[in-house]
This record gives sequence, C-alpha cells and structure tokens, in this order.
Amino acid sequence: MIKKLHQKLISKEITAKELAENYLEKIEKQDKEIKAFISLNEKDLILEQARIVDEKINKGEEINLLEGIPFAVKDNILALGTRTTAGSKMLENYESGFEATVVEKLKKQGAILIGKTNLDEFGMGSSTENSAFFITKNPSDLGRVAGGSSGGSAAAVKSEMVPFTIGSDTGGSVRQPASFCGIVGFKPSYGTVSRYGLIALASSMDTICPLVNSVEDAEIVFKAIQGKDSMDATSQTLCEKDNSKLNIKNLRIGLPKEYFEKELDKEVKECIEEAIEKIKSQGIEVKEVNLPMAPYALPCYHIIMSAEASANLARLDGIRYGKDKDLRIENLQGLYFKNRGKNLGSEVKKRIIFGIYVLSSDNYDAYYKKALQIRKLIIEDFDKVFKQVDFLLTPTTPFSAFKIGEKANNSLAMSFSDLLTVGANLSGMPAISLPCVVKQNTLPIGLQLMGPYLSDYSLLNLAKFIQQIIN
Ligand code: GLN
Repeated sequence: MIKKLHQKLISKEITAKELAENYLEKIEKQDKEIKAFISLNEKDLILEQARIVDEKINKGEEINLLEGIPFAVKDNILALGTRTTAGSKMLENYESGFEATVVEKLKKQGAILIGKTNLDEFGMGSSTENSAFFITKNPSDLGRVAGGSSGGSAAAVKSEMVPFTIGSDTGGSVRQPASFCGIVGFKPSYGTVSRYGLIALASSMDTICPLVNSVEDAEIVFKAIQGKDSMDATSQTLCEKDNSKLNIKNLRIGLPKEYFEKELDKEVKECIEEAIEKIKSQGIEVKEVNLPMAPYALPCYHIIMSAEASANLARLDGIRYGKDKDLRIENLQGLYFKNRGKNLGSEVKKRIIFGIYVLSSDNYDAYYKKALQIRKLIIEDFDKVFKQVDFLLTPTTPFSAFKIGEKANNSLAMSFSDLLTVGANLSGMPAISLPCVVKQNTLPIGLQLMGPYLSDYSLLNLAKFIQQIIN
C-alpha cells in the first residue's frame, strides 16, 4: 500500500495535497461513527506539509518512500504541537515540549502526521473501553470492540482513514487490535525501536510498533523507525539481514502445544488449522513443540506490568504532571489524593494498587521476585524451542472481537485477550499478527508468528510468504 501510494505520487497520478485531503475526507465521514481519533492536526498545517512534497516532485527531486504519506500515532506517543492524553482525564490537556523519536524520524522522512488515536487509559486494556473519552468501534462490526489498547490505531488503518499508524505493545496491545480488525500488527524485538517519548506503561516490555495493511508496509515503517537512540539506553540498531539466502521452504515452524490447548474459540482454531494445512502443503516443516512454562506467562506478566506501571505512573502527582494544579488543598498528600482519585480511571487505580502491593517489602519476594524468576524460565523455554524450530506459529488471540460491553466488567475474561501475546513481551522477541482469512463474512482472526530475539527481518520475510498463501 505505501509503495503504491509512493508510485502514485511520483508518477503524478495524485498530488500529496490530494492524498492528504482524501484521507481527511474519509476521517470526516467515518470517524463520527468509528471514533478512532482523539485529536486531529490542523488542516492548514497538514496541507502545507503536503505542498512542500508536491513542490519537490514538481521540481523533479527524488522523494523517499514515506514522503507525503499520512499517518497517525497512538495518543500515548508525544508529538510536538499536539495534546498527548494517554487516554486519561489526568493528561487531558497535556502538551509536551518535546516529541518521541519515532515521530521525529517519521516526520524527518516526510511522512505527514494527521492526528492521535484512541487507546485504553495508559495502555491498560484490550478494548478501548478503558479510554476516559470514548470507545472505538470495530470497522468490521460496529457493535464490537476494535481491540486494545491500540484500538484507535487499528480501526483507523482498517477503515482506511490513514495508510499506517504507530501503536505500542506491552502485552499484546498492537497484535490483538490488529487481529480484531483484520490488519497487520508487528511487534519488533524489544529495544530495536526507541521508546523515547512514549508514555511508559511497563518499561521492560513497552515496544513501539507499526499497524499496517501488509507485511511489506510493516517492513517499510519498521526500517524508518528502528535504530539506536541516545535518549533510550535500551535501544540498538538492527542491521538488515541479507534475506536473499533465506530458504523459506527449509524453515521449521513450531506449534507450541500449550498455546493450542488453551481455551480457543472454535472458529479461531479452525481458521488457524486451515492456515497450517496450507503452509504444510508448501513443503514447509511444521511440528508440535513444548513450552512448559507457557501457563505462567499471563500471571507473570500481570505482576511485572503492574509493578512497573505503579512506579511509572507515580509521576502523575498533579505537580509535575497531572491536571488540577490549582486545587486548593491543605497539604501535599491531600493534593495527590484528590488529583489521582479524581482523574485516574478504575482499571489504572486497580493496577497501581496491585503493583504497589507486589513491590511492598512484605510481598516483594513472594510476588515480584518470583515473577522475575519465572520470566527467566519463560525466556529459557523459548531459547530451547528455537534450537528445534526457526519460528513459532499460534493464533494471536483465543477469540475474535467481542461485543462492546461483553467483557467490560470482567477483568479476568478481558485479560484472556493477552493469553497468547504476552510471551513475546516477557522475552523481548519479535512477533507479528497477520489477518487469516479462510472463510468469507466472518469476523477477522489473527495468526501470530514469533521468532528468536533480533530475528525481525527474517520473521518479516517469512510473514510475507505466509501472508500470500493464507489469503
Ligand atoms: N491488554 C494488555 C493489558 O491490559 C496489554 C496492554 C498493552 O500491551 N499496552 O495489560
């Protein structure tokens, strides 16, 4: 899609101004219903950027792939000149004085930021029902959720309101909405994309990711945003692998038994099994493997995520960050109580309380330390399995998009959305969700591929191949 748009621009089939206007029109028409965007940039500003690209094209200058291509980012990623709410009342009017490295990189390459997309408050949720503002609807069925927490980003791509978006994935927040909406969501290896300017949820797992229409687009955007950044000590540059020698037919794909034993919906199971048959029929070796620690991944994730979130969100004290700075309160503690009590949603409060509990001196060894030990065993599990196979294949989620309200009051049922995705966050490895279309007229279902840490380019190559044969 991005390449096609680029072709259209350089062949002057369309101008960058027309392209931007087309997308803005689609947003105007569709977003009243879908509600993917929290804020939009000013039209004049957008068109001025497009005009500069058109001028370059008209002068015969070369433009790069992303130049003139509109995009949007999840509203927990800072961009100059925009509000960044993180889906919270607490940051409703927050404007940062700097911007995220990913946004800066994309802008430098000429991509045009159109707006900011909806999410569950601070990325905590799987449906955008925890957004303080509104719920994003699934473009395939408006009575259903678009997934979360990057639900706005996924719905915006699916309904063609922008050609690509950027989201964040801490436990599955890009892959799950991509799967629910029927698009591609790619979580790169931890650290390959700078987290600078992302409002942190759980810093040891947070990953900034592209949500796109195809694996080719995922690769284009990944190349544009990855790399070492002096502002994020965990970041590193990943050199592009020469994949020309990668013989896809010689690859071995593992199906983790424990992932298929989980409560998978019938349609999901059938869809993935059909896809597996198609892959096998290409002569690729597909075999069952074991990840014995897999059942502990979700509880382990919840302890580590909540612990890190409770520390990260402590900065929302109403003084440095937060809303009612002028509340007339008699003491400092009163200010914290009022501010956090009034402006944070119940899911966020629950996780902060849980996080503080598992970090408290009485409980640290029993919960947080134990979870770190289990995380190590989970990583060892994956290391072992990648000695037997090259990649892993699973469904992205145990079920497809659920109805709005169906799981809103049941945190446990909601958290099962993340059952099959958190492993990649705990271990840091790359994972991608592809739309798996077997039957027509069914809700979208996602197929997940995971690869060893830093195997991103090979994983993308395999995903390109699989994308073709399963659709
Ligand atoms: N749904 C998960 C959660 O609520 C994932 C969140 C995320 O990846 N940001 O924790």
